[in-house]
Amino acid sequence: KKAMIAVVGRPNVGKSTIANRLTQNFHEGGLVFNEAGVTRDRTYGEGFWGGHEFTVVDTGGIVFDDKEGEVFLPQIRQQAMLGIAEASSVLLVVDGQTGKTVLDEQISAFLRRQKVPVVLAVNKCESTVDGAMQAADFWSLGLGNPFPVSGLHGTGMGDVMDELIKPL
Ligand code: GDP
Ligand code: MG
Repeated sequence: KKAMIAVVGRPNVGKSTIANRLTQNFHEGGLVFNEAGVTRDRTYGEGFWGGHEFTVVDTGGIVFDDKEGEVFLPQIRQQAMLGIAEASSVLLVVDGQTGKTVLDEQISAFLRRQKVPVVLAVNKCESTVDGAMQAADFWSLGLGNPFPVSGLHGTGMGDVMDELIKPL
């Protein structure tokens, strides 16, 4: 069965940008994604790294209910849940410029309960601020090393892909 990498995280952290990066090494160009920012449903692309071919799933974000100023894990969109259920590895994307949010913590708590290996990418770390410093804030999510990346520039993506293919 072909390996599948699911990209998850709250809206606007750069999931689609990073999902596009994950597919750019495929020999025939694996890109099948919607444009950044407009992803509605799970979309797929083909990726290749370190001798492994894999399918990339952009889960399209997580919908939450803020009626009472709170966010709820059960509101994780069904499509995102399906993406995670099928995945060989999950890439959780967070926003290093915004910093850690309650929703990041709730998604992390959910992922820690799953059997699937999770890699944590701290996106938008291309600025003048030290990316490693920005990323260190996310150790407390309990998902191991927070990898600083810039989906926009592609920096740090090699380390993330190395980590993602380890379980494959
Ligand atoms: P998604 O909603 O999680 O799929 O996020 P998108 O990939 O659509 O990106 C959301 C916004 O963040 C867009 O305006 C992107 O251009 C921007 N963005 C994505 N990656 C980066 C990055 O590495 N650095 C910065 N500064 N902005 C980024
Ligand atoms: Mg998107």
